Amino acid sequence: MDKTGFYDAVIANGVRVLCNENMSNHTTFKTGGNADFFINVKTRQELLFAVDTAKSTNTPYFIIGRGSNLLVSDKGIQGAVICLNEMRGIDIKDNMVSVKAGQSMQSLCTALYKSGLSGLEFAYGIPGTVGGAVYMNAGAYGSEIADRIVSDEYLDKNGEIKVIKKADMRLSYRDSIFSKNGGIILSAEFELSYGDPECILAKMNGYLSRRKEKQPLEYPSAGSVFKRPEGNFAGTLIEKSGLKGTSVGGAQISEKHAGFIVNTGGATSGDVKALIEKVREKVYADSGIELEPEVIFIGRWEE
Ligand code: FAD
Repeated sequence: MDKTGFYDAVIANGVRVLCNENMSNHTTFKTGGNADFFINVKTRQELLFAVDTAKSTNTPYFIIGRGSNLLVSDKGIQGAVICLNEMRGIDIKDNMVSVKAGQSMQSLCTALYKSGLSGLEFAYGIPGTVGGAVYMNAGAYGSEIADRIVSDEYLDKNGEIKVIKKADMRLSYRDSIFSKNGGIILSAEFELSYGDPECILAKMNGYLSRRKEKQPLEYPSAGSVFKRPEGNFAGTLIEKSGLKGTSVGGAQISEKHAGFIVNTGGATSGDVKALIEKVREKVYADSGIELEPEVIFIGRWEE
C-alpha cells in the first residue's frame, strides 16, 4: 500500500481527507480504533475518484454509511474508509422515488410522508443510510427494503456503473448481493403507494414510539447484535440464558432489550466482541442454537 501516494493524490484533487481518524466518531457503537484515511464523499465524482485512487495506490478501502451496523477493531482499519453519508438527494416522480445512497432513511421517510407516499414507514427509526439499508436489506415490524425496492445503480468492482433490478439483488434476511460482489450502491429506486400524509406520519410515529419503549436508544449501540434465528428471537434466547445485564468492560447486554449490546461508557470494540462470544457460547450451551452476529466486524481483527 502506497500511503503517501494515496494521500497526495487525494488532496491534490481538493478532496478533504482525514488521517488516523478515530472510528468512534463514525459508528453508532462509538468504539473502534483509527482508520488510516477517512474521506467523506459528497458527489458521485468524488466517490469514483476516491475509489480509483485507492485502487491505483494499492490502498484497501471500505465503504460505510452511518456506521450503524459496524464493529470496528480497536486496532483500527488499514487503508481508506470512504463514507457516503453526505452523498444525498431525493428525486420524486409520481410514486417512484430515486434516492442517493447517502441519504438517511429517516430523512427519506420524512420526505415521503410529506409527498403522501407510503410503504417505507417501518424504516423511520432505522439510523442508517439508503445504501446501508439496501446492502443489509434492512427491515422492521414485518417489512423490509425488498418490499419496495425496484432497482439500484451501483459501481462494480471493475469501476463500471451498472443498474441492477430487484430480482437480481438476491435480497434475503439482512443480506443482498452487495455483500458478495463488492459493488458500491450509488442510488436506489423505490416504488411507493399513494396515501394520506397524516396517516403515514401517524404510522411512522407509532413505530418510533414502539422503538423508544422497547429499545435502549439512550445508549450507543448497533441495534440488534444477532440475526433472528429461525423460529426464535435472539433476545428471548439471551434472556432465557440469564444474560440480561451481563457486562464485559463498558459493554452490556441491555437491561431493556436483551438483543442489544450497549456501550454504557468507555466500552472498547474488544469488550463488545468478548460479550458477543460469551453470549454465543452460553446460548449454544443452553439451547443448541448458534447465534449469528448481524453486526459486521471490520478492521484489523485478525492481526
Ligand atoms: P453501515 O453500518 O455504515 O454499513 C453496513 C454495511 O453496509 C457495511 O458492510 C458497508 O460496507 C455496507 N454499505 C453501506 N453503504 C453502502 C453502499 N452505498 N454501497 C455498498 N455497501 C454499503 N437494522 C434493521 O435492519 N432494522 C432495524 O430495525 C434496525 N434498528 C436499529 C436500531 C438502532 C438503534 C441501531 C443503532 C441500528 C439498527 N439497525 C437496524 C442496524 C442498522 O441501522 C442497519 O443495518 C442500517 O441499514 C445500516 O446502514 P448504515 O448506513 O449505517 O450502514
